[in-house]
Amino acid sequence: MQVIQHPVERLHTALLSIRKDLIKTFQKFSRAEKILLENGLLPGNSLFSPITIHSDSDWIPAHPEDPQDFQSFYINPYRRSPNRGHNTIYIQTIGSFGEGAVVAEQYVEWLKDYCQAFFYGLVVKLLPPVTVASTACSFRVNNNTHNLQLHAGELLNFLKQRKPSDAFCIVGITMIDLYPKESWNFVFGQASLTKGMGVFSFARYDDHFYERSYTGRLKKKIELKQGDYSVFENYYTPPITSILLLRSCKTLTHEIGHIFGMEHCQWLNCVMQGSNHLQESDRRTLVLCPICLRKLQSAIGFKIADRYKALVHWIEDGADSNGQHSKPTQAFQEYKDWFYKCLRILESETS
Ligand SMILES: [Zn+2]
Ligand SMILES: [Zn+2]
Repeated sequence: MQVIQHPVERLHTALLSIRKDLIKTFQKFSRAEKILLENGLLPGNSLFSPITIHSDSDWIPAHPEDPQDFQSFYINPYRRSPNRGHNTIYIQTIGSFGEGAVVAEQYVEWLKDYCQAFFYGLVVKLLPPVTVASTACSFRVNNNTHNLQLHAGELLNFLKQRKPSDAFCIVGITMIDLYPKESWNFVFGQASLTKGMGVFSFARYDDHFYERSYTGRLKKKIELKQGDYSVFENYYTPPITSILLLRSCKTLTHEIGHIFGMEHCQWLNCVMQGSNHLQESDRRTLVLCPICLRKLQSAIGFKIADRYKALVHWIEDGADSNGQHSKPTQAFQEYKDWFYKCLRILESETS
């Protein structure tokens, strides 16, 4: 295992930048916010840890690229930011989600509420769910894994027509696997950053996806007819577990983060880190490192404590209720403690 330990000075420059005006805007953070952000860069601090590389198939060795610091994010002319007329994130579900309509509906609500806390200050809305048939997209059976797959690019075209005029972005989510073109095996998602659109699948976040006994594998060879979507009726979707919810929340916020112009994080352990495989996504944290947090803050303009409070509230809300479908937040518990630790720092100092 390799630990990527950047010198503190380098991290500090990545956070503050070298431009005088951007250093000045950093000073607008409260004293406590600056302590949280700057101390988070120090080696051995208890909140933000360095990135670890476990194999050559991890994202960073497989995709060498320049890291994006705050300044290069800020000055990117193609970066999209929400504004008064475009401040809503729309989520469009495609096909069925989870077994049972109630669970599925709740699951999507939980995702929506999570995004609303993560992108604190923006509105997140669900568009009415659509069936696969109504997207009219192409589909196929994967030759290796024998599951159904939808054509990602055609889903993006569908989303383009559904995008409301006040949208900052529209993201499609589905429990069915995706492929970008015939020659490719699969894709987790596809996005058009300049158009503010993306489509992402959670199919491979099912714990059993890669097993031979995976229920989404079609048992016998079937003749597919494009345009006949009956094969999707009652097609398998993964059970909604705490781990699936955690993985979906990470993926969705990571992908929407890209739509804000945030590139893969190479600074510290961060939800914006690239990931090549499920183990790497699972190692990735749920939260933003100080550098990516400043990027998001500059695009939206929240108080860091307000955002952390909203995220803690999301974890605690509904977790203890005895309702039939209480939110499965077990996998989020370590983050609850983490947010409280940050809040203690943010609230112990007066600005
Ligand atoms: Zn990414
Ligand atoms: Zn980061």
